[in-house]
Parts: sequence; C-alpha cells; structure tokens
Amino acid sequence: MRLPPFQYLGPTTKDQALDLMIRHQGKIKIVAGGTDIINRLRQRLVTPDYVMSLGGLAGFTGIREKKGQIVISAGTTLREIIESPDISQAFKSISQSAGLVGAPPIQNIATIGGNLLQDTRCLFYNQSQLVRDAAPHCLKQGGKVCQAIKGGKYCLSVYQGDLAPSLIAFNAQAVLQKAGGSRTISVAELFSGKGKNPLHINDDELLTDIMIPIPKGTYGSSYQKLRMRKGLEYPLASASVFVSLSKKGVIEEARVVIGAVGPAPVLVEKASSFLIGTRPDKAQVEKAAEAALRAAKPIDNLALPGSYRRKMVTVFTKRAIEEALRDAQEANV
Ligand SMILES: Cc1cc2nc3c(=O)[nH]c(=O)nc-3n(C[C@H](O)[C@H](O)[C@H](O)COP(=O)(O)OP(=O)(O)OC[C@H]3O[C@@H](n4cnc5c(N)ncnc54)[C@H](O)[C@@H]3O)c2cc1C
Ligand code: SF4
Repeated sequence: MRLPPFQYLGPTTKDQALDLMIRHQGKIKIVAGGTDIINRLRQRLVTPDYVMSLGGLAGFTGIREKKGQIVISAGTTLREIIESPDISQAFKSISQSAGLVGAPPIQNIATIGGNLLQDTRCLFYNQSQLVRDAAPHCLKQGGKVCQAIKGGKYCLSVYQGDLAPSLIAFNAQAVLQKAGGSRTISVAELFSGKGKNPLHINDDELLTDIMIPIPKGTYGSSYQKLRMRKGLEYPLASASVFVSLSKKGVIEEARVVIGAVGPAPVLVEKASSFLIGTRPDKAQVEKAAEAALRAAKPIDNLALPGSYRRKMVTVFTKRAIEEALRDAQEANV
C-alpha cells in the first residue's frame, strides 16, 4: 500500500518542532520510529498535510538518572531500553515489556514515546480503506455504528501498547511540552479510556520525557503477555505487577495493571487491596487475580474472542504477581 501525499518536515531542534506543531496545528502528524503511524498512513486512517519526523532532533534520546528518578527521553528506542542495565536491574517489567514488543527489527527503531502514544486498535478499523468502505463507517471513523457490538454507542477499540501497563505499575510520569510551556502528568492520566480519542495529549504537545521514580527497599515486578505467536504480535491481554516487601516480608505496596482488554490500561485497585498488608499467600494471589478478571471487559474485536482473553487475564495476572513476589522475596534475603 502506498503512502498518501504529504509534505515532510525534518526539524533538528525541539523548539523548531514545537513551532512547526503550532504553525500546522491540526494538519500535522508526528513520526518517531514510524512503526505504528506509517501503517496508519498507508491504510488512510490518517491523512495529514504534513508529516514531521522526530528522528533528527538533537538530545531526544537517552536514559539518565536525575534526583532519584530514571528519565527516559521519548525518542529512546526500545532496543536501548532492553539493553540498559539501569532499566533491567531496577525496572524488570519495563525491560520485559520492551523485549516483547513486535520483533527485534521493530524494537531497533520503535521509540518509547511512540509505543506509549500508539492509537487503539480494532479488527474492524485497522483495515485498508477498501475493506473499511465495504461496510458502514464505524464510530471511530466518524460514522454512526459499531461493527464490533451491535447497537454499540461507544468505541471500545483496544489499547495494545506493551509498555504503558509496566510504566503505570512503576508510577511513571510523562512530560508534555508545547511552545512556551510544559506539563507533567502520570502515565495513567495519558489515557482517556475512550476508544475514539484514547489519549489525553493535545495536538500542539510533544511527549519529551518519561520519568520513573526508583523504588526504595525490596521489590519485584513482572510483565506477562498473551499472544498467539512468539513474535510480531501485539498483546491480546496483558498484566504488569509491582510489589514491595517490608523487612518482615509483608507486602507494603502492590500495583496490578492489566492491558489490551479495553481502550486504556486498567490499574486494578481492588487487586492491590487483596495483597497489601498480607504475607505472600496463594489465596490472596487468587483473589487479586479474580479482581483483575472482574475489571477486564474485552469484546470480540481482536484476533481472539473477548471471553477467552478475559479468562486469560486471571492466568497472566497470577503469573505476574507470583513472579514479582518471587523476585522481591529473593531480594529480601
Ligand atoms: C508488525 C508489528 C507488530 C507490533 N507489535 C507490537 C507489540 O507487540 N506491542 C506494542 O506495544 N506495539 C507493537 N507494534 C506497534 C509499534 O511498533 C510500537 O508500539 C512502537 O513502539 C511504536 O513506536 P514508534 O516510535 O515506531 O511510533 P510511531 O509510529 O512513530 O508513532 C506512534 C504514535 O505516537 C505519536 N508520537 C510518537 N512520538 C511522539 C512524541 N514524542 N510526542 C507526541 N507524539 C508522538 C505519533 O504521532 C503516532 O501517532 C507493532 C507494530 C507492527 C508493525
Ligand atoms: S470498537 Fe466499534 S467503533 Fe470502535 S473501532 Fe471497533 S468497530 Fe469501530
């Protein structure tokens, strides 16, 4: 499939990029690694007048430590994240998430910013224009029907990013910059929960950094992903877990985040409440995994049925809690 016509913009500084975003507001699309947006351009899901590459921006990549936090520039590739000892030692689940995205050639060029800000997906929407035009346009395309749910009033296309659940489990924050200002929000707040417009980022804002507080004490984390093949597969359901233990082995903090079951990753607070204040125990882990199941409401709009993906949320949440607890306990001896 050919790309639609557009004018290419290649700023070399952040300020130039922000100015171009104001000048062409509403008519411009950003390309970082391009592994998500190029397909959407080819499928005519987006047809901007201008496409701006972030590839030439000075100082837009790198991982550094600053005041008790790890700061990852938005243009950092998943490969750099996978190979960073700072990330794999302190943030195992983030490293696992990056290592499970697509396949190595994608990881080499895909960026953390692009991974976070990828659009939601749906079997009925992520198709060529020819296929989409064969049926009435759905809500996400500006039409009046949902192809996935008869009579559906809301779009429930699925957010399938691998990194967001783990970043949320680690309480990460996102820095959004625009000409003349910036704001910092939690990664969880980036998501609107609405399939049609899933991200809380304005079209004059650039994601510049992701900041992850380095946890204190003894902790563990794990990311688990349901996919049909071992490579080139978006998650069909996922779970990311962070737990920390007191010196006496009691769970002090626990965050369970599930992904790919709706338009946004879900922080399952009920699951955390079953774990916090307890000693690692099978029954509590089961209860937490059941809470994740109740929070998951996938529908039949990906390659596996929603009912199956929902059941697998329990399995993957349990695995993630068990692995995170095991790592925390090993670190506690
Ligand atoms: C075959 C295949 C398999 C894949 N498998 C997976 C998978 O398993 N898991 C997964 O999570 N993803 C998967 N992807 C999707 C995609 O490759 C990754 O999400 C990748 O990390 C996107 O990063 P990118 O830099 O290429 O993003 P791009 O395609 O460049 O951008 C993605 C979106 O983010 C916006 N954007 C990018 N950077 C910024 C910024 N700094 N500020 C503001 N907006 C920005 C772009 O405008 C665009 O809308 C797959 C893609 C393919 C083609
Ligand atoms: S969930 Fe419905 S409205 Fe949303 S993209 Fe799929 S078919 Fe379209």
